[in-house]
Amino acid sequence: MNPSSAYRFPSPSGWQTARIQTATDGRIGVLLPDPDARGFALPGIPNTHSHAFQRAMAGLAEHQTDPADSFWTWRELMYRFARRLDPDALYAVAMQLYAEMLETGYTAVCEFHYLHHQPNGHPYDDPAAMSRALIAAAADTGIRLTLLPVLYMSAGFDGRELEPRQRRFGHTLDAFLSLLSTLRQEESPMLRVGIALHSLRAVPEAALSELMQAIGDDPAPIHIHIAEQTAEVEQCLAARGARPVQWLLDHAPVDARWSLVHATHLDEREIAGIAARGATVALCPTTEANLGDGLFPLREFLDAGGAISIGSDSHISVSPVEELRWLEYGQRLRAQRRNISASPAQPSTGAALLHAVWHGGARSAGMALGALAEQHAADWITLDRHAPALAAASDADLMDRFVFAGNRNLIDEVHVGGNRVVEGGQHPHADAIARRYAAVLAELLAD
Ligand code: ZN
Repeated sequence: MNPSSAYRFPSPSGWQTARIQTATDGRIGVLLPDPDARGFALPGIPNTHSHAFQRAMAGLAEHQTDPADSFWTWRELMYRFARRLDPDALYAVAMQLYAEMLETGYTAVCEFHYLHHQPNGHPYDDPAAMSRALIAAAADTGIRLTLLPVLYMSAGFDGRELEPRQRRFGHTLDAFLSLLSTLRQEESPMLRVGIALHSLRAVPEAALSELMQAIGDDPAPIHIHIAEQTAEVEQCLAARGARPVQWLLDHAPVDARWSLVHATHLDEREIAGIAARGATVALCPTTEANLGDGLFPLREFLDAGGAISIGSDSHISVSPVEELRWLEYGQRLRAQRRNISASPAQPSTGAALLHAVWHGGARSAGMALGALAEQHAADWITLDRHAPALAAASDADLMDRFVFAGNRNLIDEVHVGGNRVVEGGQHPHADAIARRYAAVLAELLAD
């Protein structure tokens, strides 16, 4: 394959100016030093938490229905919406979403996928039909995918049965393991298959230990929603005698394979526990803000040596820049200080945030992402050389400007596996994808 143009970019060994030569498996084969840089490049950003279908609901839950509106009232709308999606509609929504992700600099996505069955709860003729819609949408837009089929078995900590409207999500453990082995046959350099546990309330203790036995030391990523709302913390304390993260650490082999999604409500022991086990916390700052979840103890977790990644979750926003701003600004508002994510070792806040989510994102996705170095995925973004927000940019301020300056998308090109999938800030099929999405949305919203 031909090498790219030369770029100036941060690599694990410092700033370099080089051309990137991609090997046939979509990894970086070699970096060819070349002083004639055509602007700045950065590693692509992994989006580590997505429910693709929720992209179609973005902006539709901002009407007050009750002064106590919360996550739980939002969830009612999500259930009504989820009832209407079939594989074709999911494909169209995911195409729109993944094209938008690529245009804003996400080059990989972890899909936390629980919409498995027909609306009446029966499996499709092909039990993997909804998963295949996501795999096709990722392949057809060009984004790298970590598919995380979700195990969802019960509707509460007491192990009660799923409600009728939750039956689309549910599996027995055997059916889930069968889906997993079907999907694993599809794995490729562009597709990794891991697993997700919907939450502690959705997976009974006995099923969790049986699943962990079945998985053994398989290195595939494992994700779980945890400690997102205080109500969940209280329910877990009442039902299991421990806070959710502490309970998980005590009852599951949590290690570097694991991503704890949200983990908003933590005490000091839980912060230290997650970091000590080497698990990553997948933060979704715009969704957590939109749902009124609370603020993650970021500085405390980073000081404990914890790893973080970011996801767009409900897709109220599809922009790594906005996620990182909300992450940092939420902390500033709470601490009444500035540059919370930075440290004496990494004084640039933008660089500290990006390096953290490149590193943590690779772990959450279970792929060699987030670094422009040999043997890592050839996934990179180039920045618009003519954007005023980057005028006279230097190595020292580039990442701060990318994250914090202005509201214009600064992405020029996006390359995934060495293939250019965005040019001039646009996905080449953006118009056709948007037309198809609009038609599906009109159907979904029709009475
Ligand atoms: Zn989620």
